[in-house]
Amino acid sequence: MVRQRGKVVEAMKPETYLSRVSKTISKFKLVEEGDVIFVALSGGGDSASALFTLKSFVDQKDVDCELKGFHIDLGFPSGKTLDVVKGQTDLVGVELVTVSTKELGVSFPDVVKKTSRPVCSVCGVLKRYVMNKIPREMGANKIATGHHMDDFLVFFFKNVISQNFFWISKFKPKLESSHPKMLCRIRPLFFVGGKETRDFCESMGIPFVERESCPHTSLDCYTDLNRAKWYETLYQIEKKHKNFRCQMARSIVKMNKFFAVEASRVVECPLCGEPTNQETCSFCRLFKGVK
Ligand SMILES: [Zn+2]
Repeated sequence: MVRQRGKVVEAMKPETYLSRVSKTISKFKLVEEGDVIFVALSGGGDSASALFTLKSFVDQKDVDCELKGFHIDLGFPSGKTLDVVKGQTDLVGVELVTVSTKELGVSFPDVVKKTSRPVCSVCGVLKRYVMNKIPREMGANKIATGHHMDDFLVFFFKNVISQNFFWISKFKPKLESSHPKMLCRIRPLFFVGGKETRDFCESMGIPFVERESCPHTSLDCYTDLNRAKWYETLYQIEKKHKNFRCQMARSIVKMNKFFAVEASRVVECPLCGEPTNQETCSFCRLFKGVK
């Protein structure tokens, strides 16, 4: 899709990719001595690359910290994702922690049937909740995700268009915790894009699953489909303006302080005790049927 008429975006060598990610980790202090970092692995290449690059940084700089892979099994029927995630953690020699919706005592299909909320939004609530709660309970102080430069550029433009300026303040490689129960979130791929990440995985022999068909939507995850259209737009601009994406990402990091309004008060949900900025957290409202 992004390869129309030959090379659209200049290829990045694996060593350049690794060096750029390593500089991000170093400059923004994503990894510090004593950290326990869980890397959220979906099975896709982005999160696998986040794990690979973090592990490479920790080994190279000999940082005394613990890295673990973390996978949420959403119970999709294909079943191969778990094997791929296992392959990703085996490749770099870290432990894999998995948690299934069954173990969490929630039924995704039941909730989807009951709510008028789009399925992708329900999925997002579940992932964000579990990704913060379980690693924290297992001793983590940080959670790493595979969100990359293109993701943040898309978030940025969408938020500008919808005038949700507050969210722009969160677009940075390291999002500090805003509550004792909220993990610090790190994004090592903040200055590399989706195409570069895919190329990197392929050249390093990192296993990953292609976008998985979601059984709850008719074909693919709508969130992914919508994002794909945006990616294409970004790559079209970059065709005419070299380094557009990277320059934009750098600008966003510098401008996000202008959007940092008074942070909303984070409290503990009265039902589950997890941090929320609402009276009852989104997870309890959706999955525990509390209004
Ligand atoms: Zn709750």
